[in-house]
Amino acid sequence: MTQATQRITYATMAADPNIHVEFDAAIERVKGMLGRTYPMYINGEAVTTADQFDDRSPIDTRILIGRFQQGGREHARQAVAAARAAAPAWSATPWKERVRILKTLCDTIRKHQYDLAAMMIYEVGKNRLECLGDVVETADLIEYYCDEFERNNGYLKPMDSLGPDENNYSVLRPYGVFAVISPFNFPFALAGGPAGAAMVAGNTVVFKPASDTALMGVKLTEMAQEAGLPRGVFNFITGPGRTAGQELIDNSGIDGIVFTGSMEVGMNLLKDNGARAIPRPVIIEMGGKNPAIITSKADLDKASDGVYRSAFGAQGQKCSACSRIYVSKEVRQKFVDLLVEKTKKIRMGNPLEKDVWMGPVVNEGGLKTFEDAVARAKKDGGKILAGGNRIMTEPFNHGYFVEPTIIDGLPKQHALFKEELFVPITVIGDVVTLDEAIDLANDTEYGLTAGIFSEDDKEIEHFFNRIEAGVTYANRRSGATTGAWPGINPFGGWKASGATGRGTGGPWYVQQFMREQSRVHIK
Ligand code: NAD
Repeated sequence: MTQATQRITYATMAADPNIHVEFDAAIERVKGMLGRTYPMYINGEAVTTADQFDDRSPIDTRILIGRFQQGGREHARQAVAAARAAAPAWSATPWKERVRILKTLCDTIRKHQYDLAAMMIYEVGKNRLECLGDVVETADLIEYYCDEFERNNGYLKPMDSLGPDENNYSVLRPYGVFAVISPFNFPFALAGGPAGAAMVAGNTVVFKPASDTALMGVKLTEMAQEAGLPRGVFNFITGPGRTAGQELIDNSGIDGIVFTGSMEVGMNLLKDNGARAIPRPVIIEMGGKNPAIITSKADLDKASDGVYRSAFGAQGQKCSACSRIYVSKEVRQKFVDLLVEKTKKIRMGNPLEKDVWMGPVVNEGGLKTFEDAVARAKKDGGKILAGGNRIMTEPFNHGYFVEPTIIDGLPKQHALFKEELFVPITVIGDVVTLDEAIDLANDTEYGLTAGIFSEDDKEIEHFFNRIEAGVTYANRRSGATTGAWPGINPFGGWKASGATGRGTGGPWYVQQFMREQSRVHIK
C-alpha cells in the first residue's frame, strides 16, 4: 500500500497523486463487493426480515449497491431492548476504557478509509475527495470527543464545600439509550460522529441510516464490531423513516435522540418531545439556506472560487451549501462573469474517476426538485446564467446527473431565495449596502452557515456581529459557506437549522449526551 500522507478535509483543493493510486485500488476491490445482501445487527446478531429493499447507485441505477432489510417497528423495538440491556454495563465501564475502545474505532475507520470512501462514491455519488473527507472526518469527530473526555477528566469536577467534612462533586452521567438518525448526504460522519459522542459518554445506541445510504450504515456497524465494541452497545436497523425511524421516536425506551436531517422531520421530533410524559434530550441539526455576501471591496477571484465550490460541491447536497448570493451592484457584473466562467468549467461525470468534481444527485426526488425549481424560476422571469438541465447523454441518462445552475433576475423575496432545495442551484440578488445584504441574508427561518467576501476588516467585523448563523466564514476560497472540520470549526445551526446552539466537533457537544448529577458526600 502506498503511503498517502496528505491530510484530506473538505477544504482540500487538490489531492496528492498517491491518494488516487489508493483510490484506484480501492475502487477495484469494492466493485467486486457490490450487490450483496446485508442484515441488520441487533445485540451483535445478524437479523433478517421477510422483505428487503434494493439500494441502487445514483451514478447508474443499473448498479445494485446492495439489498437491505425492510425493518419495521418490531425490529426497532428489539434493537431498543438490546441497547437497554447493554446500557448498565457500558455506562459502568470506566470512561478511560470507553475512550480506548472508541479510539480503536477511529483507527479501524482510518485503516479502511479508502474502501469506505470508494463505497460511498458508488452509493452517494460524491467525488473522491468529498467521500474521503466524510470518512476521515468520522474518525476525527470521534477522536475529538474522546479527547474532550480526557481534557475534562471524565467530566468529574470537585466543587466547593460548606464544611470540612463535606465532599461535593459535579459529575456528568449518561442518559441510557440514544437513537441516532442520520441523513444521506454525510452518511458516515453524521452517523459515526453523533454515535461516537453518545457512546464515549456512556450511552448505548440504536442507529438508523437514511435508506439511500444503508451500505455506509452497515459498514459503520462492521467497523464498530471490528473495533471490539461490546454486543448491544451499537445496534443497527434499516427500514423506512416513517415506521422503523418513527418507532425510535415513539419508543419510551429511548432516552435521547440525535437527529440530523430535514427541518420537517426535525421540527416534528421537537413537537413530539413537548408532548411526552418525560422529556428527553433531542439534539437536532436541520437544513440551511446559506448566503454568501460579496461586497464592493471583495477580491472577486477568491469570492467566485469560494461560491462555486460551496454552491456545487457534493452537487449542492450539503446543509451548508451556498444557495443564495447577495452581491454589491458595483462589482456585480465582474463577479457574475467569473462565477459563470468557473461554473461552466466544472468537470462533471462519473465521480469514480479521479478528475471528476461533480457527480449525480442522490435520487429521483433530487432530480425532480431540480427540474421543478428550474421550471419555477423560468416561469417567474428568472434568467438561467449557467446550467438548468438534466444530462441525458449516455451513460449519464442511467443516473441522476444535473448541471450546476446559476439563476439570476428573480425578486429577492422569491421562494427560491427561501426554500432549501438541496440540489446544485444557487440564486443571485443585487444589493447596494452591506446592511441590506445582511438583512436579506437574515430574512429566513434558517441560520446554519454564511460567508462574506470583503478586503475591509470593518465590514467583516460588522458581518460577524450582525449575521444570524451558527457557522460563519470570511474570505474563504476553499468554500464560501462550507467545509467545517472537527476541533477547528464547530458546526451547528441557529434558528430552524438546529435546536441546541452547540456545534458538532466543538467544545460543547459531547456534554449534551450526559446529565449532571450533583453529589454531596459527608464523611
Ligand atoms: P430527511 O429528514 O429526509 O431524513 C433524515 C433521516 O430521518 C433519515 O434517516 C430518514 O429515514 C429519517 N426519517 C424520515 N422520516 C422520519 C420519521 N418520521 N421518524 C424518524 N425518522 C425519520 O433528510 P435527508 O434528505 O436524508 O437529508 C437532507 C437534510 O438533512 C437536509 O435538509 C439537510 O440540510 C439536512 N442536513 C443537516 C445537517 C446539519 O448539520 N445541520 C447536516 C446534513 C444534512
